[in-house]
Amino acid sequence: MSLEKAGGRFCSGKRASLPAQRPFPVIQKVVASMAHLQEEKLRLQEEVLALQEKLAARESEEIAVSVQLRGQVENLKVNLREQAQEIGRLRSEMGGTDAEKHRDLLVAENERLRQEMKAHEGELRELRRQQAACQDCTHLQENAGLQERLCQLQREAEEARVKLVELELEVQQKTNRLAEVELRLKDSLAERAQEEERLSRRLRDSQETIASLRAQPQQIKYIIKTVEVESAKAKQALCESQSRNQYLQEQVGMQRQVLKEMEQQLQSSQKTAAQLRAQIAMYELELERAHGQMLEEMQVMEDEKNRAIEEAFSRAQVEMKAVHENLAGVRTNLLTLQPALRTLTHDYNSLKRQVRDFPLLLQETLRSARAEIGQAIEEVNSTNRELLRKYRRELQLRKKCHNELVRLKGNIRVFGRVRPITKEDGEGPEAVSAVTFDADDDAVLHLLHKGKQVSFELDKVFPPQASQEEVFQEVQALVTSCIDGYNVCIFAYGQTGAGKTYTMEGTSTNPGINQRALQLLFSEVQSKAADWDYAISVSVAEIYNEALRDLLGKEPQEKLEIKLCPDGSGQLYVPGLTEFSVQSVEDINKVFEFGHVNRVTECTNLNEHSSRSHALLIVTVRGLDRSTGLRTTGKLNLVDLAGSERVGRSGAEGSRLREAQYINRSLSALGDVIYALRSRQGHVPFRNSKLTYLLQDSLSGDSKTLMMVQVSPAEKNSSETLCSLKFAERVRSVELGPVSRKAELVSWPSQEQLEGDLPGSSSRSHASSSPGLPSSRATSIRRKLQTSGKLRLVPV
Ligand code: ADP
Ligand code: MG
Repeated sequence: MSLEKAGGRFCSGKRASLPAQRPFPVIQKVVASMAHLQEEKLRLQEEVLALQEKLAARESEEIAVSVQLRGQVENLKVNLREQAQEIGRLRSEMGGTDAEKHRDLLVAENERLRQEMKAHEGELRELRRQQAACQDCTHLQENAGLQERLCQLQREAEEARVKLVELELEVQQKTNRLAEVELRLKDSLAERAQEEERLSRRLRDSQETIASLRAQPQQIKYIIKTVEVESAKAKQALCESQSRNQYLQEQVGMQRQVLKEMEQQLQSSQKTAAQLRAQIAMYELELERAHGQMLEEMQVMEDEKNRAIEEAFSRAQVEMKAVHENLAGVRTNLLTLQPALRTLTHDYNSLKRQVRDFPLLLQETLRSARAEIGQAIEEVNSTNRELLRKYRRELQLRKKCHNELVRLKGNIRVFGRVRPITKEDGEGPEAVSAVTFDADDDAVLHLLHKGKQVSFELDKVFPPQASQEEVFQEVQALVTSCIDGYNVCIFAYGQTGAGKTYTMEGTSTNPGINQRALQLLFSEVQSKAADWDYAISVSVAEIYNEALRDLLGKEPQEKLEIKLCPDGSGQLYVPGLTEFSVQSVEDINKVFEFGHVNRVTECTNLNEHSSRSHALLIVTVRGLDRSTGLRTTGKLNLVDLAGSERVGRSGAEGSRLREAQYINRSLSALGDVIYALRSRQGHVPFRNSKLTYLLQDSLSGDSKTLMMVQVSPAEKNSSETLCSLKFAERVRSVELGPVSRKAELVSWPSQEQLEGDLPGSSSRSHASSSPGLPSSRATSIRRKLQTSGKLRLVPV
């Protein structure tokens, strides 16, 4: 009832007015569970009713059985009463015979049975009364109320039902057994009645016989005897009936036992029913409480719902108000916007017209723009052409100026480098430095030889402390000119141990000119990469005993020949000389390493061998100016010459002597060539040695040559130092220009001549110290140079 009420409240009109987006899922859930509970309750009510019906049917069955039993007992009582009457009658008829005694016993027994029967009846009555009391029990009436609670106790009810069914089954079995016992009792009673009837009949017959015998005394005696005999039979029959009675009593006792058990079972089932009822009552109470709580919660939720609805309503009202206000604002805005819209429409129409006309306009504009651009491009092109022409002219001019500068400076330059005293120089007075320098002039050095100081002037002198870096700074201009297409030769000249290899190759941590030059070439090439394409390639060769060998080739021991190009250009080339294309300093290092390995494997004593051979690193730089198409080829020849010491003089023999002769010859030939070049002689004896012949292209024309004369400062080497410096000075002192052309007769001194030209004579006056050059001519040349400012003379 209360549930329905609650459900009804949920379905009230207020819920319908709730906004669709705000449902109450909790309430819906509770309503659904309530409906479910209701259904469960109804189902349990039906089950309880069915149980009650079953209980009632069983009770009615029990009543019917007890009624039947009562009837049977009644019958038994009637039978007994009749028996007693019959026995009394027989006793009165027969007097105090044995049969009568037996009969008395039977009667007494019957009386006892009757008493027991009465007690039994009383018990039955009591049982019935209890049953009636149980039927009228208020608990059963209360069942209807309690049944609601059963929804939570389905399992217990089920168990109870099962128990009840079991009990019913037992009761049924016992009822059946009772019926059987009653049936047997009935049978025995019937038998007994028949027996009594038979006995009474026989008694009657006997009495009649006795009467007739009394009438006939003879017969009487016989009859008495017969009666006596028959009375013995009667006694036997009585005994039988007694045993029968005994049996029946036992049966009754058993029946009583069964009845007692049934009563006990009935009591226990009643107890179980009472317990179940108590549980049902408890569950009902709980249900009631839960229902009460639920109602309260529902009430609270209802209140909340109402409150929420009210809040939402008020909020909606406020929002509505705001919307109305907005609407009013929008309306006014619309009114004000209308003229603007009109102007916008007008603008839009005009824009539409413009858009329609735009392609035409665009085409026209494009046409004129194209024409303008074409014109501009044409102008730029012509300007470019003009600029290119000017650039080429400038390039030529620059080259011309450069050549002029080189010519003025002298395209053959001579530097001197003095290495520091090393521990190889030993100790003592011999290891003391014999070389001193001029603090004001970096082109002058003084050598103390045999107690006399001899001064020399070169283009530049590097003292022992000069670093590889400083040396390279002075030669880098030559290296870069190779990129511009000039051929360059850098020679390291000097006695063995004077530092030629150190200057050219250097060490891995402090590289010399070779590596630095290539590094510079790479960086220069990169900086010009925007306009120029460059390719750098290298060859490594050596000349030993006038034999040219390729140190990068597969057969380093093979002797190579220098030949004229078959194209008739007059250029020289070395067939079979390997040329490696290099892209980086790493490539160069690999090439050096390879060349070094080849040199090492080819000789037993590298130091010895290297000092007796000329080592050449030939770098070719080919360039292409992408804008002009101009092609340049420059060659950089870096030569570590063989030791210039005078071996031949020390009386060497055999191969050692041959080596010395070759070296002497080739160094003299180099001196001759340089001299011929500087003095602009018509004939330059390039072919006098393999070295000069190989370097012909790089020594002639507008090529540039640097002679780095290496000297050891140690006192013990002063003779060799003197020779080297004389060689250097002579190379340098050869005059340039028109006058020098006249000096064609002047020939280069041989190594022997250099040796002979020892201090004592005026070493400062180069021309006079040169045996082949007439002193008058030398003086005139010097005078000429002095006036032109091209030669600086060191004061004597
Ligand atoms: P060369 O090649 O002329 O026979 P080296 O270059 O082999 O002579 O030099 C001989 C020794 O002198 C080497 O040990 C070298 O390291 C050292 N040396 C030469 N020049 C210098 C220098 N400028 N600074 C330091 N050590 C030098
Ligand atoms: Mg060397």
